[in-house]
Amino acid sequence: MKFKTVMYPTPEDHDSNDIRWETEDGRVQGYGYQSKEDGKIHVRRCPRCHNENYMSQEVCISCGFEPNPVEKNENLSKFE
Ligand SMILES: [Zn+2]
Repeated sequence: MKFKTVMYPTPEDHDSNDIRWETEDGRVQGYGYQSKEDGKIHVRRCPRCHNENYMSQEVCISCGFEPNPVEKNENLSKFE
């Protein structure tokens, strides 16, 4: 299954933006965050195997899920 990587911006004083992995019909399957410093995406709850990575991981430690780049950002206006 393919997941869209969706970025939800946080307030300016947060050092990362929220990431959600959603199915084509918009169901959230996992979450993580994207560093504002280096742009790297970290997996917390894996959308593929639903494992929770307690340490920040760029790849899921259970199944090797590797996030795609952010594909859409349609919620940006909500935070402006
Ligand atoms: Zn996984």
